[in-house]
Amino acid sequence: QIFAKFSTAPEPSSKLLNPPRVPNLIGGTFVDSKSLASIDVINPATQEVVSQVPLTTNEEFKAAVSAAKEAFPSWRNTPITTRQRIMFKLQELIRRDMDKLAMNITTEQGKTLKDAHGDVFRGLEVVEHACGMANLQMGGYVPNVSNGIDTYSIREPLGVCAGICPFNFPAMIPLWMFPVAATCGNTFVLKPSEKDPGASIMLAELAMEAGLPHGVLNIVHGTNDIVNAICDDDDIRAVSFVGSNIVSFLLTLAGMHIYSRASAKGKRVQYISRFSKNQLFLMGNLINFCAQSNMGAKNHGVVLPDASVDATLNALVAAGFGAAGQRCMALSTVVFVGDSKSWENKLMERAKTLKVNAGTEPDADLGPVISKPAKERILRLIQSGVDSGARLLLDGRNIVVPGYEHGNFIGPTILTDVTADMECYKEEIFGPVLLCMKADSLEEAMNIINKNKYGNGACIFTSSGVAARKFQTEIEAGQVGINVPIPVPLPFFSFTGNKASFAGDLNFYGKAGVNFYTQMKTVTQQWKDLPGSGGVSLAMPTS
Ligand code: NAD
Repeated sequence: QIFAKFSTAPEPSSKLLNPPRVPNLIGGTFVDSKSLASIDVINPATQEVVSQVPLTTNEEFKAAVSAAKEAFPSWRNTPITTRQRIMFKLQELIRRDMDKLAMNITTEQGKTLKDAHGDVFRGLEVVEHACGMANLQMGGYVPNVSNGIDTYSIREPLGVCAGICPFNFPAMIPLWMFPVAATCGNTFVLKPSEKDPGASIMLAELAMEAGLPHGVLNIVHGTNDIVNAICDDDDIRAVSFVGSNIVSFLLTLAGMHIYSRASAKGKRVQYISRFSKNQLFLMGNLINFCAQSNMGAKNHGVVLPDASVDATLNALVAAGFGAAGQRCMALSTVVFVGDSKSWENKLMERAKTLKVNAGTEPDADLGPVISKPAKERILRLIQSGVDSGARLLLDGRNIVVPGYEHGNFIGPTILTDVTADMECYKEEIFGPVLLCMKADSLEEAMNIINKNKYGNGACIFTSSGVAARKFQTEIEAGQVGINVPIPVPLPFFSFTGNKASFAGDLNFYGKAGVNFYTQMKTVTQQWKDLPGSGGVSLAMPTS
């Protein structure tokens, strides 16, 4: 039912006349929201309305949380092997419907079909990992801590958890969240991005086909009101957030706002955004929380003179302009150590050959950016760089894509002579814009990077193991690439952002993800013939 509606792009005329309304998922049923208010989901390549996403009412939100709460006791008691088997089935179904999911992502988000497949695939890997998650949930056991007394620890699920998603990975990021939470025995309320909600509901339909019981996964749509409701709800025990900290609604910074509001309610928060934990602490009344939050980024690459020329140029172009620069791990700044001129010119020649087109076109290397306001913001940041003295080596601002004249396209853009005080450097641009900086030494390059407030990823291109090792040790970034431009860890590790790109203690997926969605219980048991006498001792027990 959901796949039929959302997996293919309907004809433009029918879309404009009657775009489908994206349903909520409550207690195992896809239901239309009663809310009259909705937001258009717009194809960024054509401006056609793909669907409409409702601003879910508070009553409907409460119903979703109640469904999750009701499903919890039986789900937590479902054997872990059964929960894992559902993930086995889910990974099979995601593979089966990969093309349909990718088409929905390209239609709603704009990235190329090949990149959309990558989006689904990197989420699929988390589902695959969840198939063996029992290993990560094992507790510990120490026998005979005192005579006849044993102590053991157990990892237990938390209850109802919630996830709030960004637009840039409509499949991967929901799959970072609910498969891990559910396999640990939790139930879940997911709030997809209002810009591209289709993949989430398609994945939910697959999860139910795989055997996920009703109420274990629920979906509610909306924007800040629904997010605030998630943060405030007393039945939600943990919140995972991935997104920005752009000043938006309510003059708050989305990430910071959610982090402080949810943790003030005593919830665990898992959060990827742009501000440091310390900054977030100052903003919020943070009590009794354990947080995990992923936010924005400014990822640097350092190129040493001994780097392999071809491989490095290919890596810079792919990581700088792939997905139109809308990846939290996009390489947005390159620091050339030593002579930069010849690198910059070759980079420009290679970037010029990239094909900008609608993501559905087979020759597209990069598609449009998500929205008109996003495009305006990117153009403003490019201009601010030029105004403050940067040189526009490649200008993609006025690109026109035949057949898609209304799309939000920006061609690959390269700014050189960028310095650390420029706004285009300080802000996350989140578009196909690569900034070039210069340094005289590796130390100077690392110093630039370490002074930047963000710390998601950083990479180095070199043939020197000594330089690479120094970089790996001294660089302040959560994910380090050595001749690898986008070092996103596979699910048996965790996504380990640093500084202002991450707030919290427990990262997404991997061992840390399991720890986030579970809590420890420690049991001390005594099995011995209890002495019939000996009296009562009020002293602290010792062994
Ligand atoms: P966004 O912050 O605008 O939206 C993320 C979610 O928060 C959405 O579901 C949105 O509805 C909600 N939201 C936004 N403003 C809010 C507010 N004021 N109050 C309550 N809720 C609010 O982010 P986006 O533009 O969708 O995603 C792009 C951003 O996400 C980039 O900054 C990118 O770096 C970041 N990101 C980070 C990672 C990472 O792992 N570090 C991964 C993906 C994306």
